[in-house]
Amino acid sequence: MIHVKPGYRSPVNSATTRFAPSPSGLLHLGHAYSACFAAAEARGRGGEMLLRIEDIDIARCRSEFETAILEDLAWLGLEWPEPVRRQSDHFADYRAALDRLDAIDLLYPCFLSRKELNEALSAPHLSPGFGVEMGPDGPAVTDTDRLMPEDERARRLEAGEPHVLRLRMARATEIAGELEWRDLDRGVQSATPSIFGDVVLARKDIPTSYHLAVTVDDAIQDVGLVTRGEDLFQASHLHRLLQALLDLPVPDYRHHGLLVDETGRRYAKRDKALTLRALREAGHAPGDVLQKVGLTP
Ligand code: GLU
Repeated sequence: MIHVKPGYRSPVNSATTRFAPSPSGLLHLGHAYSACFAAAEARGRGGEMLLRIEDIDIARCRSEFETAILEDLAWLGLEWPEPVRRQSDHFADYRAALDRLDAIDLLYPCFLSRKELNEALSAPHLSPGFGVEMGPDGPAVTDTDRLMPEDERARRLEAGEPHVLRLRMARATEIAGELEWRDLDRGVQSATPSIFGDVVLARKDIPTSYHLAVTVDDAIQDVGLVTRGEDLFQASHLHRLLQALLDLPVPDYRHHGLLVDETGRRYAKRDKALTLRALREAGHAPGDVLQKVGLTP
């Protein structure tokens, strides 16, 4: 019998925030803004900002980028407590969360690649009644196991073929009931995790997903306020559901605006000239960089 926390519930006594970059490139101005935002929120509450290295995607992440992250943030004048949590060291924590969801029959394996799924979805005769909306991470598919005969699924599972694990969203939301979470700028939100469909919680090549790892880590690290870019606003609906299913405390959230360049484009890892490293090498001081992103040093 699982115990689900209804409604909105704030974590006890935690003024902790976190900055959680992925070491798949050098930090740029947008990261500087996000990190300083998290640090300022922690300072304002008398708490600490944690640094977390989100490197579950081991093929894309590199240790030299992790080293650069630590150096660049220190150069900006930011501080964080040690040890820094590195997600790739904690796959067992995510496995335990998956096991818990599996024990209440909320996970199922899906063998179809993205391409195969798209093909199946565009062939209505194969999947009658399979109306699919677009979700935050792509098509919000549900019950994809219907697209493959049961004996074939069993055979592939037996043969150990790679597969993702999807959350059975309809059952999950039924178990969890109505949920709320609080965005400090937009107010209390009714959670609508169904927009994701049967979201992937463990990838083919990686035994977790961004959504699962981040939710588990924020709880383990006792984060009281999650700050991140507004591109992840929708993700918070899903994270709230995972908290309920895994019986985790519920932090508050703030989703900051994303910095854009003069042409209105978001800063991204491809903007090599705007990496903190390049700015530093071009002779800029940390104070200049902070001013550039509208923050006072
Ligand atoms: N690792 C994510 C990123 O680099 C941030 C995740 C989060 O703050 O929840 O975009």
